[in-house]
Parts: sequence; structure tokens; C-alpha cells
Amino acid sequence: MIFDNIIIGTSPLSIIEATSFISNGSVLSIEGTGDIGGAWSTMKYDNLPEIEIGCHIWSYNREVYNFLENILELNLVPLEPSPKIYTKNKFIPYDWKSSVVSLKEILKSISMLNFKRLHQLRKSPAFRFNITSADYMYPEQGAKDLQRNLKRYVDLNSLSIQFNTKIKEVVVTNQTVQLIANDDSCFETKHLTITSLTDIEKVTFPDGTELRIEKNKMEYIHVHLLIKETRQKKRPFSYIRVMQNKIIHRISDMTGQVQGEISEDEKLICVGIWESAYHSMDTSELADLCINQLKDMKLISNEASLLKYNSNVFPSLYIDGAQLNQVSTKSNGRINVLRSTDFIYSFHNKLEQYQSLLNSNA
Ligand SMILES: Cc1cc2nc3c(=O)[nH]c(=O)nc-3n(C[C@H](O)[C@H](O)[C@H](O)COP(=O)(O)OP(=O)(O)OC[C@H]3O[C@@H](n4cnc5c(N)ncnc54)[C@H](O)[C@@H]3O)c2cc1C
Repeated sequence: MIFDNIIIGTSPLSIIEATSFISNGSVLSIEGTGDIGGAWSTMKYDNLPEIEIGCHIWSYNREVYNFLENILELNLVPLEPSPKIYTKNKFIPYDWKSSVVSLKEILKSISMLNFKRLHQLRKSPAFRFNITSADYMYPEQGAKDLQRNLKRYVDLNSLSIQFNTKIKEVVVTNQTVQLIANDDSCFETKHLTITSLTDIEKVTFPDGTELRIEKNKMEYIHVHLLIKETRQKKRPFSYIRVMQNKIIHRISDMTGQVQGEISEDEKLICVGIWESAYHSMDTSELADLCINQLKDMKLISNEASLLKYNSNVFPSLYIDGAQLNQVSTKSNGRINVLRSTDFIYSFHNKLEQYQSLLNSNA
């Protein structure tokens, strides 16, 4: 069978993209693992409640929040207190990051007298100035809510997913795109959709040329810590981006996501760890180090004790932007590339196209 559309991957973006094709013909999603969600999935350690794999934040964009609430019937709640950046022993509003980046970009465009670039910047969702903190929204129970509602959405739309099938190679001909999986099974489609994080080895184009995909490999490493607080914790927090630290790069308080599953005096905190730190010590040493740093930052009290901990490594890779452009151009429009490195902005780019899905949902 030749499908009208095949989509590799089942992250929320890939699933919604797949359903946008359903009214135009046959659609198949192909997923290398046994479950949907991609980076937005949950995990179950032996000794901790089911929880999302790592610290997450959704960039601020009201339109996309509304869209996701409606399309996936999600209950989004503001991160309380608002997210922060920790730098030079101080907490500053997370929003200042976008203001500083936006200001730098403006000054750069003006110094280059590039007013076209300035105009394009204004259209970017990342271009924002905010002195006070905006409401950063997130599903109430994190990725658990997102994955559950995504599954419901897949069923509602009768989307076909081929699980446990990893595509290694793609061959584009003048008429179709052939996909070859690790187990040598083959699929054929008129149009293929991939994302910035699709893990394929090689693409062959209709003119016979081959592109070996260069992968920028990354390991997303997180330690989950179950902590007992003997008294009211010192500084409530939701999400913290940590700067200039060789061990920790971000911290999330996930206690709200596991309410009812842990005792009232316990907290579940997730800490993002740099690869170099993770590979230079064992997990118990790392967990102790995290606890000390959380105490230094006054995020937990000095009396807080560590009850349980665990770590996970989520391998990920990004295809270089220039290679993505090449794939899209040389495939004569047969391969559609979704830019997906920021969750919210990737939806922002497609919002106009996805509006019709809301109408069919109603
Ligand atoms: C741990 C982690 C934390 C992150 N935190 C944030 C955050 O806080 N905020 C934010 O905006 N973004 C974050 N991101 C970025 C995140 O990758 C994007 O938000 C978004 O999930 C990208 O969607 P995607 O489909 O490209 O990739 P993914 O979500 O990684 O999904 C890719 C899916 O495709 C499947 N797949 C890939 N290649 C193949 C193949 N060849 N054959 C079959 N199946 C395949 C994978 O199994 C996976 O299910 C984070 C990413 C990771 C890994």
C-alpha cells in the first residue's frame, strides 16, 4: 500500500500534524518505541511515583496555550510561583531572558541597518519584552496529563500508529518516498513528515545523491529526589533555570504532579544534570550534591532529608538546520520538515493550519 502521508514520531506536534492530514487521504504514524509522546512521556522508577522524565517549561504564548487546551482538552494551570533564573546567587524573573535576547537582536539589526530582519523579528513569538512575569502555563499533572489526553485524541481521530518500528533510511523517488526500517520492513508514501529530532541515518534523493544525516547527540539527564521537609520549606518555586553551574542546569518542583501519591511533608524535586557531571560520579553522590545545592539556594530547608532518588538518561539528537533545509529542498516537496526544538514555538508556526482541527473537534 502507498500511503498519502507518513509521519515519523509521535510527539504531540507529530500527532497533531498527522491528524491534520486525515481528511486528505490515508495516514500512518511510525514510532520507534512502544508508546506515544516523545520527550513528553512519563516513566516509572521502582521507588517513585510515575513522573515526567525531566524538568520542562513551556515558552510563553497565549494563543498556543489556548489551542492546546482546546484541541487536547487539557487543563493548563499557571506555574506558581512564576519561573525564575538563578544567576550569581540571585533569582531573577525567567521573562527577563526573552527581554534581553530581544534587545540584543534589535541592537544587532540596527547596527547592521537590516530593517527587514527587524521586521521579521517582530513576528517571532520569542520577541517579547516583559518586566513583570507572564503566566507560564503547564498541564496540571505535567506530561502525565499530556500523554493521557494525546492517547484519547489519537483514538478519537482513529489515527493508525505503527509502534516499535525504527526507520533508518529514506529513499525519495520522483513519485514516492520509501522508508526502510531497522528490521528491513518497508513503507511507501507520497509525502513524508519528519521533525528536527527525527533519528534517521541517510536520505537518498531522486537525482541519486545521498545525504548522511549528521546528528547532534545530547543526553537529557535528570535526577528525581523525594525529600522530607521537617518544616515549611523556605522558598516555594516551580521551575528554575540555573546559570553558571557545572552540575545543575534546571530544577522543577514536581510535588503538585504527584499529589495524593506522596505524604504531605514530602516533596518531589527534579534536577537537570550536565552530562559531564553525571558521568564523573555515581548517582548517590550526585543526589547528595543536588541536596546540598538546593539547600545553598535556600530552595529546601537545612533540615530537609533525602528519602529516595533515581536518575534517568533520555538520549536525544537534533538534525542540523542546514541539513533539514537540504532534505526539504532536494526532496522536491516530498519531505515536509517540522522545526521542533521549542515545544510551544513549533505549534505557533503551524497554528493557522491547525485551526480547522478545532472546528472538526467541536
Ligand atoms: C528531556 C527533554 C526535555 C525537553 N524540555 C523541553 C522544554 O522544557 N521545553 C521545550 O519547549 N522543549 C523541550 N524539549 C524539546 C522537545 O524535544 C520538543 O519540545 C519536542 O518534543 C520535539 O518534538 P519531536 O517530535 O521533534 O521530538 P521528540 O519529542 O523527541 O519525539 C520524537 C519521536 O519520534 C520517534 N522517532 C525518532 N526517530 C525515529 C525513527 N527514525 N523511526 C521511528 N520513530 C522515530 C521517537 O521515538 C520519539 O517518540 C525537551 C526535550 C527533551 C528530550
